Amino acid sequence: MLYYLFFTNTGFNARISSIKLMGPLKILDISEVPSQRSSMVVTRFAPSPTGYLHIGGLRTALFSYLWARRNNGKFVLRIEDTDQSRNNEAAAKAIVDAFEWVGLEHDDIITYQSQRGEIYARYIRQLLDEDKAYYCYMSKEELTALREEQTANKERPRYDGRYRDFTGTPPEGIEPVVRIKTPTEGTITVNDSIKGEVVFNVDDILDDFIIARSDGSPTYNFVVAIDDALMGINEVIRGDDHFSNTPKQLVVYEALGFDVPKFHHVPMIHNHDGKKLSKRDGATDVMAYKEMGYLPEALLNFLVRLGWSNGDQEIFSAEEMRTLFDPANINKSASIYNTDKLDWLNAHYIKNSDNAKLVGLLEAHGILIDGHDKKEILLDEVKERAKTISEMAALIKEILETPGIYDEKGMKKAFKGEAVNVLNTFAAKLNETKALHLPSDYHDVMAKVVEEMGIGFGKIGMPLRMALMGKLSGPGLDTVMSVIGLEETLLRINKVIERDLQNSAE
Ligand code: GLU
Repeated sequence: MLYYLFFTNTGFNARISSIKLMGPLKILDISEVPSQRSSMVVTRFAPSPTGYLHIGGLRTALFSYLWARRNNGKFVLRIEDTDQSRNNEAAAKAIVDAFEWVGLEHDDIITYQSQRGEIYARYIRQLLDEDKAYYCYMSKEELTALREEQTANKERPRYDGRYRDFTGTPPEGIEPVVRIKTPTEGTITVNDSIKGEVVFNVDDILDDFIIARSDGSPTYNFVVAIDDALMGINEVIRGDDHFSNTPKQLVVYEALGFDVPKFHHVPMIHNHDGKKLSKRDGATDVMAYKEMGYLPEALLNFLVRLGWSNGDQEIFSAEEMRTLFDPANINKSASIYNTDKLDWLNAHYIKNSDNAKLVGLLEAHGILIDGHDKKEILLDEVKERAKTISEMAALIKEILETPGIYDEKGMKKAFKGEAVNVLNTFAAKLNETKALHLPSDYHDVMAKVVEEMGIGFGKIGMPLRMALMGKLSGPGLDTVMSVIGLEETLLRINKVIERDLQNSAE
């Protein structure tokens, strides 16, 4: 059955034609009326396009995705692109790319609100026909004057309902908005799994709000309710910045006779100062985390714990998240974004990644070590030390490149007394030793030198570290030598000795 009949049957009167269609005209199919309430959990992520996926948005998407998966339900993606000035395709791509990177899959094809203009127009028509909505001809100037007067009288600024029961001749030259009739008294109760039952006094919060602007475009609170109902969404998980919109959306559900979904309004993510997370607190674009060298599994693990808990468990595999997540355990207060925690989780996941995977990830950070014969030794060493893939990449670079600069303080500290002599002895010993491959082979040579010269390990360790790394910190020396090989080790030793001689001559 096709819905084009709707337009011919009801007549397309002059007024509704002012409701601008936002997408190409198409014939609607039966799925564009509310589906029977499904017993399957259907959740959604409904971002407004901004060109990137915000970290807080990813958390909302993750919660919605996990709850759907836990229930063998459906998780759908809807781009709320009623603002035509934005580039929706790029925004949708940014979201899908980020989803792909972290491994979230949405079901069905993406819904774009910009393509659903006729659907919204149909429901606006319906509400007008049923006298549940009306045209309001109040000009912007009149509205501003009214607001100023109300504010001066210490009243809540609100539309006064002057066109609610208007039957006269509309004023000339005004493109009307469409307002929905909201209850004038009583209460509206929002049942929220996290906030509980919250009762709003309609007189305090509602007036007849606009559902279509004078250019015909429908407003957020109207279309969100319609789309959630038509798409069969029965559990809405979203940020609690939308909580105050919910009574308005309930008015729309009621007017259109739609089933109301379960609501879960998730408290915001705050920074350390207790303020809403902003760009200044670090990256907000999910893909920036990829560039910084975070693993998707670490980011998801971090996000799932921002506002949700399962006892005191900190580490969650993807599978565990899908089987354990329950909105019933979402915290009632805001969560705090903590970079140290993210780093700790990332270090954990790096440590537990296999080397083949790390080789691939390092490539994106400019490190090509697939053909290196000691790559396993190298990776085993650095993955214990890095918090991010970029740190890992930097450390590998430091190991593989002959030092160009030497830390001056380190040089002074390391090259006291007989350091040059120790290094020369060590180099000679390396030269006469056959079969130097593993870190332990190099370690044995160091141990022999220490023993024969009757010195402590530090006496060789410090100058050797300066030789190999150009500074006094870094990974195990035997590992470094094994990775770079004998020739490069000798070259670095000679280079630092020359450098020390130069220093002494100056
Ligand atoms: N489009 C809204 C936003 O990005 C979200 C709507 C909703 O989740 O109800 O803030």
